[in-house]
Amino acid sequence: MPTDSRLLLAARRGTIATTLWVGVLASAGAAPPPSEAVAAQLRDAAIAGHSPAYAWVSELTTRFGPRPAGSVSEHQAADWAVARLKALGFENVHIERFPMTAWVRGAENAAITAPGAQPLTVAALGESPPTPPAGLDGDVVLFATLAALKTAAPGSLAGKVAMVNERMVRTQDGAGYVATVGGRADGPEEAAKRGAIAFLLRSVGTDSHRIAHAGTTHYVDGRVPVPAFALSAPDADQIERLVKLGQTVRVHLFSSASYVPDAYSQNVIAEVRGRELPQEIVLLGAHLDSWDQGTGAIDDGTGTAIVTAAAKLIRDLPQRPRRTVRVVLFGSEEVNQPAPPQSVFGGHAYAANHRDELARHVLAGESDFGTDRVYSFALPKAVSGAEFAKAALRILNPIGIFAAEGPPTEAGADIGPSVEAGVPAFKLSQDGTHYFDIHHTSDDTLDKVDRVQLDQNVAAWAALVWLAAESNVDFRTHAAPEAKP
Ligand code: ZN
Ligand code: ZN
Repeated sequence: MPTDSRLLLAARRGTIATTLWVGVLASAGAAPPPSEAVAAQLRDAAIAGHSPAYAWVSELTTRFGPRPAGSVSEHQAADWAVARLKALGFENVHIERFPMTAWVRGAENAAITAPGAQPLTVAALGESPPTPPAGLDGDVVLFATLAALKTAAPGSLAGKVAMVNERMVRTQDGAGYVATVGGRADGPEEAAKRGAIAFLLRSVGTDSHRIAHAGTTHYVDGRVPVPAFALSAPDADQIERLVKLGQTVRVHLFSSASYVPDAYSQNVIAEVRGRELPQEIVLLGAHLDSWDQGTGAIDDGTGTAIVTAAAKLIRDLPQRPRRTVRVVLFGSEEVNQPAPPQSVFGGHAYAANHRDELARHVLAGESDFGTDRVYSFALPKAVSGAEFAKAALRILNPIGIFAAEGPPTEAGADIGPSVEAGVPAFKLSQDGTHYFDIHHTSDDTLDKVDRVQLDQNVAAWAALVWLAAESNVDFRTHAAPEAKP
């Protein structure tokens, strides 16, 4: 069948493809649509709201609410995702399960007990152990930064509660988070080394509300050494002012957090199989698990919605791309530990399960930075200045996206282990100016999702992923085939 009649038939099916293909047919005549024209049509269809992105994040967060790694809720969300991905027409939809120790928040509370009684708003840090059943009490030793805590002498915090009060700077690209999150990761270890009985952290966040930002902390020799809590920013300010008044601040801390050693999590995988080079894979990642206090709407319900919706738009084209587009909805991103064997991390499980085909992963990207608009894209060094990068800019620039200087500096946590194994990464950078106001808090709920910006994300992902999957560009080498004379 000639290409144009196949396209017309598809257009008559009355699906999204109608919107997509009318313009292409008008401009391309009988010739197969050039890749760039299809990318533009995908972009415009997404901007017009013709994708399942919002419905996906709405249903996910409404049906399952919070989805802590290894929880029944996370398992149920994964089963739901399989059913929905099959219904959307994806191929090779399946679950890859991996064992883990789950962490479960219990009851928790905290208060200043001297010089006067005042309640504190806290959230136990992920993976941190419970306090004794009666709680624990100690005087606070305040440090402005993690670096300051590290200068404290050995033994100087014996019987004390160490507190790091580092303020996170609001930035568009998340640099403020990167600069501050070390206190959460390493604070309990540094405090325990010096004799502290517990650790308090000013929440890693940019809001001034009385809500604490959760987040995982790191194991040391297979465990987090002391109970550790994030404090809301106003509570951290309060303790700081009391200390400045010359007061000794004593606190009571309680947590009944617990562990489930024989739990499991899972990665959900779905594909649009390539028509010519199905063994070559463009990987799109996001994570299905979330922190337990909100409903994981912006972290990372919208990421799963963006990559799924982008792949769905590509799947609904009359002609599938040359290469395979693979969506991976990772499990257990939030409680990841840095390295095996302690790792309980979907990204590691994926890289291990797919070790033999990582060499055929031509490109990978991840959406895990909320729902605000994409403002720049970065591509592997191999295509710097190449026609592929120019085409991407022509397609993405009309929706407010410019080309970043240089390749991505980091790829994302979920695809990180695959990228470390040599898979080239791209990055669609989102505006994170407001992301850390609600990141990892009870306020991470569906009402924070801006549909217009969500659709702009889908547009960028669908167009760029299509260009990569339809091309034969080698993103690994420093001489892309298309650039050769
Ligand atoms: Zn995330
Ligand atoms: Zn997160």
